[in-house]
Amino acid sequence: MDVLVIGSGGREHALVRQFAKSPSVGKVYVAPGNDGMRDDAEIIPLGVMEFGKLAEFAEAKNIGLTFVGPEQPLAGGIVDHFRQAGLRIFGPDKAAAQLEGSKAFAKELMKKYNIPTAKYETFTDAEEAKAYIREQGAPIVIKADGLAAGKGVVVAMTRDEALEAVDDMIGGRKFGDSSARVVIEEFLDGEEFSYMSFVHGGKIFPMPMSQDHKRAFDNDEGPNTGGMGAYSPVPHLPEEAVRTAHEQIVEATVRAMDAEGTPFTGILYAGLILTEDGPKTIEFNARFGDPETQVILPQLKSDLAKFLVGLLDGNPAEPEWEEGARLGVVIAADGYPGDVQKGNLLPDLKPLEAAGLDVFHAGTQAKGDRYAGNGGRVILVSAEGESLQEASKKAYTALDSMEWNGFFYRSDIGKRAMK
Ligand code: AMP
Repeated sequence: MDVLVIGSGGREHALVRQFAKSPSVGKVYVAPGNDGMRDDAEIIPLGVMEFGKLAEFAEAKNIGLTFVGPEQPLAGGIVDHFRQAGLRIFGPDKAAAQLEGSKAFAKELMKKYNIPTAKYETFTDAEEAKAYIREQGAPIVIKADGLAAGKGVVVAMTRDEALEAVDDMIGGRKFGDSSARVVIEEFLDGEEFSYMSFVHGGKIFPMPMSQDHKRAFDNDEGPNTGGMGAYSPVPHLPEEAVRTAHEQIVEATVRAMDAEGTPFTGILYAGLILTEDGPKTIEFNARFGDPETQVILPQLKSDLAKFLVGLLDGNPAEPEWEEGARLGVVIAADGYPGDVQKGNLLPDLKPLEAAGLDVFHAGTQAKGDRYAGNGGRVILVSAEGESLQEASKKAYTALDSMEWNGFFYRSDIGKRAMK
């Protein structure tokens, strides 16, 4: 079977690699991909929103399975489009993708079905939103309702910061129509973790737990980013909390989507905070997380394509996972998450691969047999080990021995778990 992966980031590179490793897979195509994937897949110059052309391509090449990485095409209905054309695709349809595409939809669903989450209100009127903030006080969290590339959340530690966020989002349309409506919610205090599952036909197959590092700099300082590194599993997470999260959040959400007539197929990503009252949901994504995917998928021992086709056809085999640990460090261009300079040459990456590390390309462009930066997050370097300590040592020994002019990375990925 040939496979088509849609997307161009590090997450998609991990997907491409995993499919390329699958014995059931012949050829892997990626659209639009990036230069760093050229050794693993054939790169097809089609954008993620070109549904008609992508479907024509899948039909012409007799693609057995299409997998969508990013949220925009899912929210835009790519799955509906492919299904109508009789093509096999793994992901939520437009109705189910609202779980990520509209925070208000997700919050209302959680309220209706008693799924643990932060207390909230929804507003389209800036004055009403501000009155609510004055009444609730800070800290408080302001979220753009629609998709905002992971940047539509302000965790306001002061009331003024919260009021300003409302003005920016509703008044200034900071995220266009995505912020015409905002969700204002209670600040939750606790450890964050990511819990992803494969879902179809009411069946749920959870993946190992992982933790992302959202802030740009060490010790969780600096601005929020798309994610600066991740590790998996999360050993300091009590088993009880994982069980509760599974039953009260993941299972309950899948059942709720069925009951609402919007059954979920795809990757259900629950972003959770472990509060004193147990795990609570901070967000759902309707797709794989980036960078979590780059440390989780390589742990999968089973044939990914075969598993997904089995799941879609209603006869999935339980996936098998490796026992050890994985840790991934993002290399970003100086200035990220703000403006960055593109075109800076990366050091030769071959020594990383020679040291047994996986390099996933997110924003690179080829320069001969080397690569240059072509975005904010450039690559992720992922190491495996029997323990997180071992994985961390492998990753940082290799990274610290190289010159990264024009780039930076956090030196403390996974540190909290190793205390
Ligand atoms: P989101 O895009 O919803 O994942 O939010 C981005 C980040 O904001 C999360 O990873 C959390 O660190 C933080 N965040 C979101 N909602 C809350 C909340 N209710 N309380 C505390 N922190 C939050």
